[in-house]
Amino acid sequence: MIVPSEAKTVKRIYHDFLDGKGSVQIAEELKEEGVPGWNGESKWRASTIERMLENEKYKGDVLMQKTYTVDFLTRKRMKNEGELPMYLIEDNHPAIIERDTWEAVQLEKQRRIAFVEETGSKKMTYNGDDYVFFGKVICGHCGSAFGRRTWHANDPKARRHVWLCKNRYVKGEKRCRVKNHHVNDLDLAPAFMKGLNELLRKNNIKKWTEAKEQADPLLNYKLDQFLERARSHQELSDYQPELVRRFLERVVVEDKQTLRFHFLDESVVEMDRLHLVGQIR
Ligand SMILES: [Zn+2]
Repeated sequence: MIVPSEAKTVKRIYHDFLDGKGSVQIAEELKEEGVPGWNGESKWRASTIERMLENEKYKGDVLMQKTYTVDFLTRKRMKNEGELPMYLIEDNHPAIIERDTWEAVQLEKQRRIAFVEETGSKKMTYNGDDYVFFGKVICGHCGSAFGRRTWHANDPKARRHVWLCKNRYVKGEKRCRVKNHHVNDLDLAPAFMKGLNELLRKNNIKKWTEAKEQADPLLNYKLDQFLERARSHQELSDYQPELVRRFLERVVVEDKQTLRFHFLDESVVEMDRLHLVGQIR
């Protein structure tokens, strides 16, 4: 049985995940807000969130024989790891997560795994607004993820965060020969906002609506988010880290001058970052 308060929490978890949050952050936020779990306590773990994100019961199905009885006398049960067939009974009970949303979450999980493998990032989602670009800044030269370093750490006036190719500064010059390729942390957010506004201003409503016809559930979900933003006609003036989580796939550092923003609607926006110098706050 799924009670209404649980249904609300489950929905929130699915949508938070699709909006770019990771299981660690989702668990932290639920704990902070004191949202009760299945036993009434607010003890959320990332592993609980991960299990919930793949539980088929929320889309109305039931998987039979997830466990089986080994000993009928002691009633000992074991997890079925292929010893016995499993049966999926669809539409067994009312769903609280739409089938497409559930599928979108599974695709999003695969996307994150593939991204991390491709770029050599440790992970794709980091907890906290200061870390939204982590794992997503990619070297245009070697394809490795950039890492953020602090320069002049001992001098408060000169101290700044700078992004550098991990292949070059961690593993050595041989792995990536790119030079003068670093990105000032303060350049990223304004360039991202300009790129996103450019995309929304271009009035892609027709393009996005047509793309939905061919889209898988994940792209479809994302296209809806772009459409919702575009239709609201609000110019996004302030940088919000949440927008990076929701809309950015990666930002590729092409050269000293060019940042290439890949958005989750599959568009790419090239930004000349030298012209943003005057806008850094
Ligand atoms: Zn590189």
